[in-house]
Amino acid sequence: MDILFERIRIVSPLEQRDEVAYLWIRDGIIVYCGTNPPEGVSPATERITAHGWMAAPGFVDMHVHLREPGQTHKETIATGTAAAANGGFTDIVCMPNTEPAIDSPAVIEYIRNRATGLVNVHICAAITLGRRGEVLSPMHELIEAGAVMFSDDGSCVRNAEVMRRAFLYASPFDALLSQHCEEHSITEGFDMHDGAIAARLGLRGYPSVAEEVIIARDILLAEACGNRRYHISHLSTRGGIRLLRLAKAWGLRVSAEVTPHHFTLTHEAADGYNTNAKMNPPLRERDDVEAIIEALADGTIDAIATDHAPHTAEEKQQPFPLAPNGIIGLETAVGLALTELYHRRGLPLRRIVELMSVGPRRVLGLEQPRIAPGAPAVLTIVALDEEWTVEPERFRSTARNTPFAHWQLRGKPRFVLNNGMLWRCQL
Ligand SMILES: [Zn+2]
Repeated sequence: MDILFERIRIVSPLEQRDEVAYLWIRDGIIVYCGTNPPEGVSPATERITAHGWMAAPGFVDMHVHLREPGQTHKETIATGTAAAANGGFTDIVCMPNTEPAIDSPAVIEYIRNRATGLVNVHICAAITLGRRGEVLSPMHELIEAGAVMFSDDGSCVRNAEVMRRAFLYASPFDALLSQHCEEHSITEGFDMHDGAIAARLGLRGYPSVAEEVIIARDILLAEACGNRRYHISHLSTRGGIRLLRLAKAWGLRVSAEVTPHHFTLTHEAADGYNTNAKMNPPLRERDDVEAIIEALADGTIDAIATDHAPHTAEEKQQPFPLAPNGIIGLETAVGLALTELYHRRGLPLRRIVELMSVGPRRVLGLEQPRIAPGAPAVLTIVALDEEWTVEPERFRSTARNTPFAHWQLRGKPRFVLNNGMLWRCQL
């Protein structure tokens, strides 16, 4: 690898850097980064005219379902990480609702042994054994084995005393606990958001308050257990954002992520019984989307995460109430963030990079890559203005369950560099 990006815009918020420069990478190391053309470039160096492109510290998706072990007909570690690289990510966090669940060092070892390519796979282990919400997992052992976060994602830890004990148990090693916030007694058998569309389609509704009561409960538990680290997965409601703001104002160590589909779509996308708009939490109302965008812009939200949830076409072709929840997101996230947040809503690029790179690493406690001579190249490179059509046939993911097929997007991932490797994105 010997590649020179000429006149690329480097955006690295932690280094307070936003400038057009020359960026030269050889054998996985940044050898030059500056505003003047570098000296000593050989004829063998590949020169890329990168006008209108951005180089940022590698993007992180902290909410990915890789499906392996257990459901490799939906996705595998190999295809999921290929999709991550193709979508512009150097790092992902895989969620523990595999079969078996990630609740033992053996499962972590299995995943780590298979994830040795360009994309770093970080592990979110289960809070409780089998994600059953009853007995706590051996968190200390799981951290020793490499877990960076804990969640029973897919399910909420429904028993408040179990969650309280999880916070207390996590306190000596200050582990990060994340919650899929859903009061199951309110949402039992739900199909979509509880609103006008559900009423018209005759589908069962998931009211926003079912998410909010768990956020409120957990914020209080995290505080009562000595201000523990707590992360809200896929936040989807205006009321949830209000609680997050309150917790942050109280000085609590609470963070949150939002998905691209929740800042782009409303429950109207499910009209016509579109199972590719069925997910958990469901798509909400216009008022929720506006609250989410405001919170993305003002720094209340810490991260954009996809909740990439592969399913087969056969599963999604079932009648709406029977189809499984979830959509894929790794290969549309960068395009949606740039189209909806940067181009359409005017969020600064610096904020986009914070949400997709700096923020998730900060929440997870991962080292922040630098863009400087001598540093390893951990980079996401995007063409900011390139217009493209989402063609799911081009995805590296095994799955095709996306509501964004044939959407026109502006802004496209082009290159990902990490672990001494380089990937040319093909979307
Ligand atoms: Zn979830």
